[in-house]
Amino acid sequence: MNKKKPVRLRPYYKTRYTYEKLRVCKHCRSFTVLWEDKCASCGKHMLIPVMEQAKINAKRSMQSERLISLLITLAAVLFSQTFLQIILCLLGGIALTALLWWFQRKMLETETRRQLDKLLRISERRIIEGIYLNLTTASAAIKDDEQLGYEILREIATIVHNDRIRLQQIMLLQTFVLRKDMELELDPLMLDGFEPALAEYIGELAKIKRELVKNKAIRYVLLYEREILRMKNGAGIMTTVAGAAVRMKKYVDSYPDFIHRYARQLPQERFLRLYQLVRRNPNQSWNGLRDEVSAIYNEKYRWDPEFQKWE
Ligand SMILES: [Zn+2]
Repeated sequence: MNKKKPVRLRPYYKTRYTYEKLRVCKHCRSFTVLWEDKCASCGKHMLIPVMEQAKINAKRSMQSERLISLLITLAAVLFSQTFLQIILCLLGGIALTALLWWFQRKMLETETRRQLDKLLRISERRIIEGIYLNLTTASAAIKDDEQLGYEILREIATIVHNDRIRLQQIMLLQTFVLRKDMELELDPLMLDGFEPALAEYIGELAKIKRELVKNKAIRYVLLYEREILRMKNGAGIMTTVAGAAVRMKKYVDSYPDFIHRYARQLPQERFLRLYQLVRRNPNQSWNGLRDEVSAIYNEKYRWDPEFQKWE
């Protein structure tokens, strides 16, 4: 593998709904998940968030409803035969239109949501085409700017969930020097099958960002333990993941055998953490893990001042 590069990733904005990342061009109706200023299809500066477009559509449809209501009033006035009828139709029509307008203002949010659903539904093909274009941009970027390539894929991955994009992201991440302060993710990148690059990535995160190592990642390394142990630094990966798992009691409860297997290789600071957990839970045997921890303690750390505090 090439030498890893230091990078500073651009901030990643998490949104509540995936569609919030989507923007549509007001001119040619193309879609994009990226942050470009100009539409990649027509070159115009007319990209707006889909939610904004939905609001425009909602207002437009409400406007036509009001227009219809006024036209009906007008028709009624035209067909009136007496002056009184004209007055009544006019007043009634205006009152109804006003009521409709008041009602519409209350319903704007609901109508916008309905219009958004409709917009996403009828634009499905164009959205796919837009993302396909985004992907082309990504592959072009990957060749000479891995960082930009990764950032583009990260945005695409909020909308498209598939292993090919995840694997590309993992491969690119493996070309960077990863740091604790980076906005990294693990669970969304998990694959079904065994992939050495993913195992390596999990091992690296277990070192620099332990809090990202959760059930999914632990289950993954356990499922492919045999394959990982065949890798060059496989045992190291398994040990760092075990070291990350002992940060919470719930993981020791769920995976005592796994931690048992690697307890002996844990670095002192991680073993201390495990030791504290064992001491704090005197009634748990964790399927023999407790005895193993005592044995390791007696062999290696009995006289260690760090451990004395816990006596
Ligand atoms: Zn356009």
